[in-house]
Amino acid sequence: MSKTPYRPQGGRHHVVIIGAGFGGLFAAKKFKDSDVSVTIVDRTNHHLFQPLLYQVATGILSEGEIAPSIRQILADQDNVRVVKGEVRDVNLEGQTVTADLGGKDEVLEYDSLIVAAGASQSYFGNEHFAEFAPGMKSIDDALEIRARVTGAFERAEITDDPEERKRLLTFVVVGAGPTGVELAGQLAEMAHRTLRDEFREINTKNTRILLVDGGPHVLMPFGKRLGRKAARILEKLNVDVIPNSLVTNVTKEGVTLKDMKTSEESFVPAYCKIWSAGVAASPLGKHVADQAGVEVDRAGRVSVNDDLTVGEHRNVFMIGDMINLNRLPGVAQVAMQGGQYAARTIIDQVENRTSPSSRPPFDYFDKGSMAIVSRFNAVVKMNKAEVSGFLGWLMWLVLHLLYMVGFRNRAVAAFSWGLNSVSRRRWQLTATRQQLHARNALRKLREMEDNEGIRSIEVRDNLRFGEGRDTRAVSD
Ligand SMILES: Cc1cc2nc3c(=O)[nH]c(=O)nc-3n(C[C@H](O)[C@H](O)[C@H](O)COP(=O)(O)OP(=O)(O)OC[C@H]3O[C@@H](n4cnc5c(N)ncnc54)[C@H](O)[C@@H]3O)c2cc1C
Repeated sequence: MSKTPYRPQGGRHHVVIIGAGFGGLFAAKKFKDSDVSVTIVDRTNHHLFQPLLYQVATGILSEGEIAPSIRQILADQDNVRVVKGEVRDVNLEGQTVTADLGGKDEVLEYDSLIVAAGASQSYFGNEHFAEFAPGMKSIDDALEIRARVTGAFERAEITDDPEERKRLLTFVVVGAGPTGVELAGQLAEMAHRTLRDEFREINTKNTRILLVDGGPHVLMPFGKRLGRKAARILEKLNVDVIPNSLVTNVTKEGVTLKDMKTSEESFVPAYCKIWSAGVAASPLGKHVADQAGVEVDRAGRVSVNDDLTVGEHRNVFMIGDMINLNRLPGVAQVAMQGGQYAARTIIDQVENRTSPSSRPPFDYFDKGSMAIVSRFNAVVKMNKAEVSGFLGWLMWLVLHLLYMVGFRNRAVAAFSWGLNSVSRRRWQLTATRQQLHARNALRKLREMEDNEGIRSIEVRDNLRFGEGRDTRAVSD
């Protein structure tokens, strides 16, 4: 551990930002040309546009197009230092943050802190499901899902056993929120459109895609009407929408579903299972909340003040997926607007325009929600207005191009979507053994760490703060 905590030279107000996702990055950008020094710490080297992960998983976009380098994005902001490291400790009393930079700790001293560490997948206490049903929260996850999806078709092509072929061509998506709906729609398009002439022994049109949810209809936050519309589009694509059903077990062989109305259980043999059913805030939230004496909810989200600060610590802001305030949803806009608000508040204070007692509260402006269901078909909810079909798809297109970071990424994505509209093909279907097996290999390395007492930077890099062991392993 460094003896003296890091502070940038020049004596300016030092802001530490944890996380360069939507919240952290928008906060950092807001500090451009202001009289503060900023250190932004992220455990990855990229800013991830999570809403498009499903397009990486299904071969439409490549990972670089949705995950530009944080350093590159902030290169022209002289007052920002980017640190790649995993934050393991926040000390509110001492005003320090400790980050593990791959085996070496760095302690950063802050005047103001913005915690924007986001959320991870939640299996509602059934973390062992993750072994066979990966979630979709990172580039690694999306590439692993792509490898599993393409692998299922490859295996189906070479098996002689009709039952096994059926299992291989059955995909189960758990959770019918926007991610589950988008993923199920794209899997269906892959099976019925993209791959239909590419195999000789199987008919990919026989693929079965199940979209399972505990709620009464898909896209619950969008309301009944748009939910029904989305379900109808999915059914036309041959997706089996299964509402009111809980997943009670996930094994290598398949999933067990429980009908919530009759309590009957049934087993669905399926090779490829994908989890998009729940999220839990970063454990950094509870770590900070415990020190500040404030509550966290069941999903680990922290009760923050109306200026997004934590308890009595009016220089510690928490934003995005980590907060529990006025039932705000876990969406990108909440994080982006929260990041901009926190940065503006800090700048105003540094420039003596406001004090903590005279701050205006965070006022979220709801710009609506949208989900793409299939090609040329999206549902959009903006306050009371509901739009669906082609117009919805156009709105989705414009908004996503607007918020993607970097001109090249926008141009490449627009080109890929254009091409995808007129052609059946997809150009990002490369899958490697590493993508499929990396988690398993890392788990084994960790076991070696435990059994033989070795320390490996690669393994330590992959551990998540406070989550202990990642129990997931690739099954094949
Ligand atoms: C598959 C998927 C689809 C989605 N689709 C939509 C959508 O269509 N529309 C929408 O509005 N929202 C969508 N969301 C939600 C949206 O992406 C999140 O609400 C948003 O990313 C939250 O921003 P954030 O800054 O709070 O967290 P994130 O964007 O998750 O950023 C957190 C950052 O913190 C870093 N980090 C975490 N822990 C540490 C640590 N200990 N040390 C250092 N760094 C750390 C992470 O690497 C990450 O870069 C989707 C989410 C997912 C997963």
